[in-house]
Amino acid sequence: MLIGCPKEIKPQEFRVGMTPMAALEAIAHGHDVVIETNAGTGSGFDDAQYTAVGAKIVDTAEEVFATADMIVKVKEPQAVERARLREGQLLFTYLHLAPDPDQTKDLLASGATCIAYETVTDRAGGLPLLAPMSEVAGRLAPQVGAWTLQKANGGRGVLLGGVPGVGPAQVVVIGGGVVGTHAAKIAAGMGADVTVLDRSLPRLRYLDDAFGGTFRTRFASAGNTAELVMAADMVIGAVLIPGAAAPKLVKRADLGHMKPGAAIVDVAIDQGGCFETSKATTHEDPIYEVDGIMHYCVANMPGAVARTSTLALGNATLPFLLSLADKGWKRACAEDVHLKNGLNVHAGQITYAAVGEALGMSS
Ligand code: NAD
Repeated sequence: MLIGCPKEIKPQEFRVGMTPMAALEAIAHGHDVVIETNAGTGSGFDDAQYTAVGAKIVDTAEEVFATADMIVKVKEPQAVERARLREGQLLFTYLHLAPDPDQTKDLLASGATCIAYETVTDRAGGLPLLAPMSEVAGRLAPQVGAWTLQKANGGRGVLLGGVPGVGPAQVVVIGGGVVGTHAAKIAAGMGADVTVLDRSLPRLRYLDDAFGGTFRTRFASAGNTAELVMAADMVIGAVLIPGAAAPKLVKRADLGHMKPGAAIVDVAIDQGGCFETSKATTHEDPIYEVDGIMHYCVANMPGAVARTSTLALGNATLPFLLSLADKGWKRACAEDVHLKNGLNVHAGQITYAAVGEALGMSS
């Protein structure tokens, strides 16, 4: 199979769908790989690293789309890319179709077969191609929160780990899933005093078993949440209710009870955020202040560490990519229900019920 990887064109997207390591493995499996020039530059991979493993570099995205049997990307195809897709071609990337009727219509019209990273599942009921980005965002959250807490950035001027003789910062993580667990681990590793709130008792039991001694857990009742948020130097929002907007767990009135200059890092901002005062920000202008509390609400946090994010995503996508290339999508999906769960569009039909329902289209 000829696998093609164009350069990402969505603004501020520096990741790339295939690393040179992925290209090497695909070529070792007997496939050909074509990469658009400079596709990997934003993630620190130059063209020479791709040619060294046997991939072919081409000058334009048109050449990639015109020749490849399978297109591997990161972000949903933009309008100009959708116009290049053709019948029978396979697209493997993040799609997020439910809130995006324009993209869905174009993909249906293209006749391509489209497998969405975000709906591929695993045996544990997780989302293996979303998890790496939650891991990245979670681990990044205390790092950006520590920066936000610095005096020059409007913060309280508190060092996460304290110093000998001076106590550490109090960090509260609301939501102990993938983002929250990774955030708590890193904040604790930086020396902060960390508490994780969750409403799931099985999750709290797991966290206590795995990390008791590293950080504390509390049930996320309204009372516990308010008490801990008031005493916190940093609050990290990491809740998720699948398929729903994030619940507003901290209201504007609560900010007045917080320590002046405390930092809020709302990782759940991509689902609307779990603080009433959250609004999405960008890497260029990531923080703002409301009632003396500093807010960091960047909706695509992994983009800040594009190289790590590309490598992490590539590790997760590679087995599926190889399976699709080796077997073709039909057999690969027939043999692996988890990959089949990624199938969102095929030959002009929506093949993922939740997308069809969300858009009021038949599937
Ligand atoms: P997850 O499903 O692994 O974890 C969510 C946790 O929230 C679960 O443990 C759940 O029990 C808990 N929860 C739900 N309601 C709660 C409540 N009311 N109080 C306390 N806990 C509650 O999800 P995740 O992968 O950790 O993702 C968390 C959020 O981060 C999602 O909104 C995701 O989209 C977002 N995210 C954002 C970025 C970014 O760049 N901003 C990157 C990755 C993920």
